[in-house]
Amino acid sequence: MESPVFRNYSDSDRRDVVHRHYKLMRANQTVAYVHSMHAKFGPLKHAHMTMREALEHLRGYVDASDPDVSLPNLAHAYQTAAAMRDAGEPEWMQVTGLIHDVGKIMYFWGNPGDGQHGGANAPQWGLSGDSWVVGCALPSSMVFPELNLNNPDALDPRYCTETGIYQPGCGIQSLLFTWGHDEYLYQVLLRNRAELAARDHPHQLPDDALAMIRFHSAYPWHEGGAYAWAEAPGDAELKQRVRHFNGYDLYSKHNGVWDEAVLWSEFGALLDRFFPEPLAW
Ligand code: FE
Ligand code: FE
Repeated sequence: MESPVFRNYSDSDRRDVVHRHYKLMRANQTVAYVHSMHAKFGPLKHAHMTMREALEHLRGYVDASDPDVSLPNLAHAYQTAAAMRDAGEPEWMQVTGLIHDVGKIMYFWGNPGDGQHGGANAPQWGLSGDSWVVGCALPSSMVFPELNLNNPDALDPRYCTETGIYQPGCGIQSLLFTWGHDEYLYQVLLRNRAELAARDHPHQLPDDALAMIRFHSAYPWHEGGAYAWAEAPGDAELKQRVRHFNGYDLYSKHNGVWDEAVLWSEFGALLDRFFPEPLAW
């Protein structure tokens, strides 16, 4: 039996949906847009809900940027976590696999103009898709690189040089990435972890978990080799750990039948241990 091919953008039967997604994403994700989303989702809390409730909201969400599968994201959450458990990865990583895409619930508070809408055929360019760094030149290693010139910042002299607004060696963590479910969940978890730490909660996600979540869509960096000029000491090792995470994110995908009850019976208690109380979303 042939093994499945992932991230196939040329002859996937989802190609049209995916190409439309990237065309919109490339045309709309700019420095100004990213700043406006940090302002919208940073200080303002839209809801209090448990991690389990947030995950349940992915039951009906299908990712428009995914050329591989058309299952709801909740099935993908389970497949990722189960693959990690089966490979003997630690519990914190299984939890990370389970929740890594939960930031897509932003669609509850988004609107089509911001590229955050969960409805069928609604724009999701502010939610999902491979991320890149705004404020400097767009790398040619991106998916559909012919769309790079559609980006308004690509014509702005401040943003179109290789290093743009950044200092070489500033560190991957200090770059401004496109806004999506990765950065949003990272910000939510950062706040939550500070609260848990203040109470000495025994189950907290380590820094690596937060980095895996924050950078898992940054394919131009961790697969394409872009932004090496920005890396600080430790970033090359971090990149390897993100790549390790991504192996599970990608290669666990399959369109098989799935049963949500199995997810909760196998991972519900573990999830509740790491997230005992509602989080501010
Ligand atoms: Fe994702
Ligand atoms: Fe994923």
